[in-house]
Amino acid sequence: MPAAVAYARSGRWPFGAVLVAADSGEVVAGAANTVQDEDPTAHAEMNVLRSATARGLSMARHVVVSTAEPCPMCAGALLWAGVRAVVFGTSSARIAALGVPQIALPFETVARHSTLGPHPAVGGGVRTDLTDPLYRAMARRRRRGRAG
Ligand SMILES: [Zn+2]
Repeated sequence: MPAAVAYARSGRWPFGAVLVAADSGEVVAGAANTVQDEDPTAHAEMNVLRSATARGLSMARHVVVSTAEPCPMCAGALLWAGVRAVVFGTSSARIAALGVPQIALPFETVARHSTLGPHPAVGGGVRTDLTDPLYRAMARRRRRGRAG
């Protein structure tokens, strides 16, 4: 999670994700949210998936660790990719409650509706001591009328 938080801190929006090899625990890829006006799909999880699949990495042998619960778009992509497990920090419900716009559909709800392959293991609320401050700060900036 600290590696994902470092990616989150590097981006315009405080969302980061890393890909971890399930066997070794090694971080093999990472990305920030790089959403700009012209590409609303560049969430951290989408970016890390694109980076990993471009390198031919098998998602079935990797875990995605995200600072925030994957949104329905990212959840769908992670399920289509057959990722082995998903670990996240702050829940989408918590982020929405802070006042940050979200599509706050729980990852597990999306996964429950999937008939694809084996469902990934899911762990949420991991190291929220590191991830919650990202979204509290984002909510404060939004209340003061600044982006991000
Ligand atoms: Zn997303």
